Amino acid sequence: MEESLENVPPMGDGRLDVIGLSRAELTARLADLGEKPFRTKQLWHWIYHQGETDFSRMTTLGKPLREKLAAHFTVSRPKIITEQNSTDGTRKWLLGMVDGNQVETVHIPEEDRGAVCVSTQVGCTMTCRFCHTGTQRLVRDLTAGEIVGQFMVARDSYGEWPTPTDETRHLSNVVLMGMGEPLMNYEAVAQAMKIVMDPEGIAMSKRRVTLSTSGYVPNMRRCATDLGIKLAVSLHASNDDVRDAIMPINRKYPIRELLSACKDYQRIAGQRQYITIEYILLKGINDSLADARELVRLITTADIGAKFNLIPFNPWPGAPYETPSIKAVQAFAAVLMEAGFAAPIRTPRGRDILAACGQLRSASERERLSRHKARLAAGIEDSHVLPEKS
Ligand code: SAH
Ligand code: SF4
Repeated sequence: MEESLENVPPMGDGRLDVIGLSRAELTARLADLGEKPFRTKQLWHWIYHQGETDFSRMTTLGKPLREKLAAHFTVSRPKIITEQNSTDGTRKWLLGMVDGNQVETVHIPEEDRGAVCVSTQVGCTMTCRFCHTGTQRLVRDLTAGEIVGQFMVARDSYGEWPTPTDETRHLSNVVLMGMGEPLMNYEAVAQAMKIVMDPEGIAMSKRRVTLSTSGYVPNMRRCATDLGIKLAVSLHASNDDVRDAIMPINRKYPIRELLSACKDYQRIAGQRQYITIEYILLKGINDSLADARELVRLITTADIGAKFNLIPFNPWPGAPYETPSIKAVQAFAAVLMEAGFAAPIRTPRGRDILAACGQLRSASERERLSRHKARLAAGIEDSHVLPEKS
């Protein structure tokens, strides 16, 4: 993959943040300072295994080197703006980036493990109609450092340093299911996940990393080849008419092309790699038993090893859809299960802190919208919601 520093925002003082630099980039920057390639491994160990952010405490490095590193580099974290804890243990951070943009990161704990749900963009350009993130107007790609940085914040928060073994970690999984469409920011996502999976980086196995996509087909096959991580596909409809209406991306890459890319993904990443088909249930839109039967037909015909994840719609203020009754959701699941598919119904986590799927938005956007609503309620004409200049 082409290595580039274009996307890395320099620190205000001109020093470069080492978090998120690929091995090759870091080795090259160290060579500029006259250091040998083996220093990369040493530095990565301190940064990603020990979680150290202060060069002066990297005691296996000589003092002159520590000073040289501190003069040229930083080991940064996104700034924690708020941290919220849900009654069910879910923890959510609002994080500020160096340019003031904000994203949300969520940790969803389970018995003996936990997934960190990471954002890949500020906002999202895909404008799926059911998704709160997709209604956010301010959008930019995150850098690899900002993506890895979210995971580092979660690790700091739980004090999970030095890195425990794969089996004993609490923060055991990464899911690219936060704000943004990961395959629309492929280069940065791939660079970040290579650090997450590198045995000398965060050392997480590829079985524990899941990328969720709305179906940006052009980058699916390269993701299978480069990363081979688990894939979740947001299908959400059993036919193109409905999918076109709720997910504009479908007009470009319809269901047939998406499922064919899934088939290829599985062939490249390994047949045992099941693909998760995510399916939001929207009352009266895509939740009929005929939809369930059509889904079975689609997946069976496409010959994909798949399991379903049924997500009853998570409402957000002003959303144009409703959540079906639990009975309707169970009847839908039963059709899939009778056809031999796993089809668990996902209960939303962290609902009390708006941390569930599709609800993530930056606080600045929320404040702007609530000001806009208050103005409307007060009868002040202001029908366009435009991004504020920063
Ligand atoms: N952009 C990627 C990943 C982020 S969204 C994607 O779309 O797959 C993560 C998941 O949350 C997706 O399956 C998405 O469709 C789902 N989601 C979005 N809004 C939702 C809502 N209001 N209720 C339930 N799930 C939602
Ligand atoms: Fe973007 Fe995913 Fe939300 Fe669609 S569901 S708008 S792709 S974050």
